[in-house]
Amino acid sequence: MALMSFQPPKGTDDILAPESQLWRRILKLWEEMSARYGYPLMLLPVFESTELFARGVGETTDVVTKQMYSFPDKSGRSLSLRPEGTAGAVRAYLNRGGQAVFKGAYSGPMFRYEQPQAGRRRQFYQVGVEYMGVSSSEADIEVIELGWRFVAAAGVDAELRLNNLGDAECRPGYLADLRAYLNERRTELPDSMASMIDANPLRILDSGPEAVAASAPRFEDYWCRPCRDHHDAVLAALDSLGIPYISDHTLVRGLDYYTRTAWEYIGLGLKGAQNAVGGGGRYDDLAETLGGKPAPGLGFALGVDRIAAVSTLDPDPEIEVFVVSETGPKEALHAASRLRGEGVGVDFDAEARSVKAQLRTAGRRGVPHLMIVRGDDIVEVRSGGERRQMPLREVASWIRGSS
Ligand code: AMP
Repeated sequence: MALMSFQPPKGTDDILAPESQLWRRILKLWEEMSARYGYPLMLLPVFESTELFARGVGETTDVVTKQMYSFPDKSGRSLSLRPEGTAGAVRAYLNRGGQAVFKGAYSGPMFRYEQPQAGRRRQFYQVGVEYMGVSSSEADIEVIELGWRFVAAAGVDAELRLNNLGDAECRPGYLADLRAYLNERRTELPDSMASMIDANPLRILDSGPEAVAASAPRFEDYWCRPCRDHHDAVLAALDSLGIPYISDHTLVRGLDYYTRTAWEYIGLGLKGAQNAVGGGGRYDDLAETLGGKPAPGLGFALGVDRIAAVSTLDPDPEIEVFVVSETGPKEALHAASRLRGEGVGVDFDAEARSVKAQLRTAGRRGVPHLMIVRGDDIVEVRSGGERRQMPLREVASWIRGSS
């Protein structure tokens, strides 16, 4: 029979063990930490109406104009695979009735039709939170801190870059001056960027020529009083929590919905334009843009593919014990079943193989304990250099005591 010739679609990956054992560890950490900060799980659709993203993410963004996987369903509705998690989360919040305060954490695949390269995939995996209904700077700090601590706990050396993108009050004045400046320096921009001066001038700050960005007008000279106070409060709280940051006036993020605080976690081991492990910001106008009643909000999304690429964590071996049977797989199965029932992670070789072959398999799996079964109730447990004989019923508590 011919070998199967299908390949995964361009820009997608099969993430299997041992790589997936690191992913499992990172995702478990995410579940644990997002819960610790009070973010209940949100399970949201992987596709939504195309209009939701056009309105929410922004009609002029690259994500919406070039990168969406959009398709008509069988009854002709235009749907899109989600390119990001925030628009869907805010929709869900509004559909629930927009209760005063809402917190939620998500985790799952996102889809963007991009030119695949290292750190840029067409299907990639994000974890993130959204926090709706609170406009205070304490909410910003909580969210920034969760992302910062999670990235560190996931074994990634990162720096926090921060900006404030103003609000409906001060942003129009800034954008007008920025457009005027960019028009003066039009000849220095690549042709493809000329149309961005009107449509999306902020984007030129982070993706245009550095010399143009360096002397562009700066948001900080335009902030209204409340934006300035908010920003000062965020910086003061970061200082008091001991979270280091770098102010970056060219940080604008690629999605249109951000207002005020915007930030990125830059992975120090990642290179080039794909060096952000995640980013977030406030989106105080988004609920209204989506047709709901006004509600402030903020959140972040972190890219697990990039986190896994530079994480220094050890993969999660999943099992603690490998059962090696001198009498065949039936006895190994029964012993494994008993220990699994007692909460211990166990595997065994279900094929009748020599003891030597079973030991080789156990070695490859990198398990901390071996258990040799020989046809009676007394088994041998081997951990590091130590060997002990004990009844099978005592093994689970012995393992718990030794780990
Ligand atoms: P964004 O939703 O664009 O703010 O992205 C947040 C994070 O998701 C980025 O910092 C990356 O870590 C990750 N990310 C975004 N797009 C991709 C992609 N095409 N491939 C891999 N990771 C991505």
